[in-house]
Amino acid sequence: MRISELFGKTQREIPAEADTASHQLLLRTGMVSQVAAGVYAYQPMGWRVLRKIESIIRDEMDKAGGQELSMPVLQPLGLWQETKRDQAFGKGLFTLADRRQRPLVLGPTHEEVITRMVSRNVQSYRDLPKLLYQIQVKFRDEPRPKGGLMRVREFSMKDLYSFDIDEAGLDQSYQEMLRAYQNIYDRCGLPTLLVEADSGAIGGKDSHEFMVIAQSGEEEVVYCDSCKYAANVEKAESAKEKIKAEKPLPIEEVATPGVTTIEDLAAFLEVPQSYTMKTLFYIADGELVFVVIRGDLEVNEVKLKNVLHCYELRLANEDEVTEKGIVAGSASPVGVRGVKVVADDSVTPGMNFVAGGNKPDTHIKNINYDRDFQADMVVDIALVRAGEGCPHCEGKLSVAHGIEVGHIFKLGTFFSETLDAFFIDEKGVSRPIVMGCYGIGLGRLLAATIEQNHDDKGVIWPRPIAPYQIYLCPLYREDTKVAEIAEKLYDELEAAGLEVLFDDRVESPGVKFNDADLLGIPVRVAVSPRTLEKDSVEMKKRAGKDAELVPLIGASTSLKEIVES
Ligand code: ATP
Ligand code: MG
Repeated sequence: MRISELFGKTQREIPAEADTASHQLLLRTGMVSQVAAGVYAYQPMGWRVLRKIESIIRDEMDKAGGQELSMPVLQPLGLWQETKRDQAFGKGLFTLADRRQRPLVLGPTHEEVITRMVSRNVQSYRDLPKLLYQIQVKFRDEPRPKGGLMRVREFSMKDLYSFDIDEAGLDQSYQEMLRAYQNIYDRCGLPTLLVEADSGAIGGKDSHEFMVIAQSGEEEVVYCDSCKYAANVEKAESAKEKIKAEKPLPIEEVATPGVTTIEDLAAFLEVPQSYTMKTLFYIADGELVFVVIRGDLEVNEVKLKNVLHCYELRLANEDEVTEKGIVAGSASPVGVRGVKVVADDSVTPGMNFVAGGNKPDTHIKNINYDRDFQADMVVDIALVRAGEGCPHCEGKLSVAHGIEVGHIFKLGTFFSETLDAFFIDEKGVSRPIVMGCYGIGLGRLLAATIEQNHDDKGVIWPRPIAPYQIYLCPLYREDTKVAEIAEKLYDELEAAGLEVLFDDRVESPGVKFNDADLLGIPVRVAVSPRTLEKDSVEMKKRAGKDAELVPLIGASTSLKEIVES
């Protein structure tokens, strides 16, 4: 490809709207162009990389036994109502109506469509297992699109769905996909960490995410410093700091004028925050829920949502709390009636907690679970923090930022039971198909690769997904010999099957080298009067420091070897 003909220009200035390296570099290299918030066009340079990622993914899916198919973006809303996932996705679902006012959605994922389709095609255990996938566009009306391609509203995803006769079959499909995913990330030059993930309220079983550890990542990953335990913070558990149980003391009211926060309360009474009890109010699908947790801990809203099996969860406002006769700033679970109470398992008996006094400027000391109040549920709903103990060993937990570049999920039989995808087993009994789903976002993978492979000059592409392999730049083009030899080398390199970006512009060496570095093509080849004096061209790897001379005779063969080494 001649740069003089290439559509899409490089840009020297750092775009003001971009604050992550990948977002800046995607714009500066001319790979993408923004159309709307969270909506991007890929220009030729970006599209080439995306297509390479796509072909690696396709190759690994095929090797794992996947069959490629294609499903529509347009889907009837009715199908989503059958599984109630219209509610689960909520405002994230793009909806529209056709000319007859029939409601449709733009698919954010394809479990419903594929399960319906499979139900029409699979009758017997002999039709199973099946691994079916597509690489196709998804639409999600994300509340906060950001980070360039990291979180967008329209994106290409590889989604594979597995269909098995039983759990053992699902386990096998799951392991197969796990391996295929690891191969994909390896081939893209992207180290990932496999972490346990939240499997949501739908009641799936295992779920794992592939995380790229990066400061710019919006996920938080919890990992143990001595065993293999790693989990998304949404799902992570810890061995909570134990506080020695004491003998329950008699309840005592204390005056606490003006004290409303846990910090103020602990300071006022001169006790650690872990001796206080925090109360919070949520609205779960319209119903008020009273939540109690030890004062030094925070509520993990994903865990809370899962234990409540609700679609929508938010903090309640003061009116919603007072409506139930509760004093919002000074509430205690003691004596609460007619409200669901969820207690974190940190609120165990023998703690002599301090909590609100159910009236302003008053707190109660020595509150003990069981003796003084009960909860409808005592479960782990706490957010894990760095420094807490590992739930599986004696190690300590750390927290890092990560980018989720893939998600695999044992769905079980929710979709097959809801959408009637049954098969007749060997004994003639009708059973629901056991499903799994496996997704990778292509654009986010591309962005994460840049995030992990760049320096202050630009991108450093891992070879398998580089848009071109060689950046050929004649310097001083007006020197006819340079131009002539560069043209000839360009033809030879292309004939040797290499992908060459030919900087045929009349520009200074500085401009050309800067663009070569910015675009991050693995091997740069310069032809100049100086190199020709030595009957050579100059070769420099983008990831390396030093340039070296390569003899002009046999240059295309030598360069091919260098590229492929
Ligand atoms: P997230 O937690 O980041 O919103 P998710 O858990 O909703 O993602 P899945 O439904 O598991 O995402 O989607 C599978 C993959 O699709 C993700 O691992 C990610 O690579 C990609 N993906 C999901 N949402 C987006 C998005 N808004 N923009 C770009 N890629 C996305
Ligand atoms: Mg996910």
